[in-house]
Amino acid sequence: MSPLLGRNGQLIGTVLTFRDTAPIRRRMLAALEASETRLRQHEMELARVARINTMGEMASGIAHEINQPLSAIMSYCQAALSLLDDDETDMAMLRRALTSSVNQADRAGRIIHRLREFVTRKNQQLVPLQLNQAVHNALSLLDYELHDHDIHIEQNFAHELPLVYADTIQLEQVVLNLARNAVEAMEQTRPWGRLSITTRKQGDRVQLIIGDNGCGIPPDTLDRIFDPFFSTKPNGMGLGLAICQTAIEAFGGKLIAGNKPGSGAEFIIDLPCAASCVTAPSGVEA
Ligand code: ADP
Repeated sequence: MSPLLGRNGQLIGTVLTFRDTAPIRRRMLAALEASETRLRQHEMELARVARINTMGEMASGIAHEINQPLSAIMSYCQAALSLLDDDETDMAMLRRALTSSVNQADRAGRIIHRLREFVTRKNQQLVPLQLNQAVHNALSLLDYELHDHDIHIEQNFAHELPLVYADTIQLEQVVLNLARNAVEAMEQTRPWGRLSITTRKQGDRVQLIIGDNGCGIPPDTLDRIFDPFFSTKPNGMGLGLAICQTAIEAFGGKLIAGNKPGSGAEFIIDLPCAASCVTAPSGVEA
């Protein structure tokens, strides 16, 4: 409101300026609605991921989930900033945007917590099991992919291997993940890819070796491939090997990566024999 003065300076009226704040409100409400819809989609996504049981899908599902609250935080903060540009900031609206943003940050934190829990002992049921059987189970899930990519599989299973302590599902997921990486590495291999699977006893250890004749691991990245989020693939999440390594170490074992002399990569899962464990790893049921 400003005074309107006459020629002699006397007050002859007032000028009232009206500003339509509806567009800001509409933008704000639209942002809130969009975020709430995203939240519902996010809940559905959570339910879906809980059912997924392959390591790679689990990892990419979680990365996708983390992206959801992050983009919600971004739109809440942008809305809050545009409210601040307003001369008379609507404090209630600003509070609502910031509270929603805090809730989303909390949600992202819980997702990460769940990822950690997935690979910690709390969630593991270590039992004595046959490595050959776990490998068979995992490979049977890959039948279609191997056939589809025209990949030949060479199996060399040692007979009468000692048992190992591991979580059945997690061990199968590790094998599946390593085999899938091998399939991806052999995408350009001609005339065909060769996936070799070997189990053997080495002293008081039992080993599974997964080899391929794919592109191999560039030597300068060998010490980084287990780092979370390290990936050389255009759409890779870089979480698979990090999760596999954590799981195998929780079984008291080691996951070793290298290149084969000819071409291709080789991953060794090295586990102690169940009989050689003086005390079973914590979390063992049997
Ligand atoms: P992602 O598959 O999402 O990239 P991973 O953690 O499973 O994540 O793998 C990390 C990186 O390790 C890959 O991007 C690739 O560079 C390398 N890698 C893994 N397995 C192989 C393999 N069999 N041959 C060549 N490189 C591999």
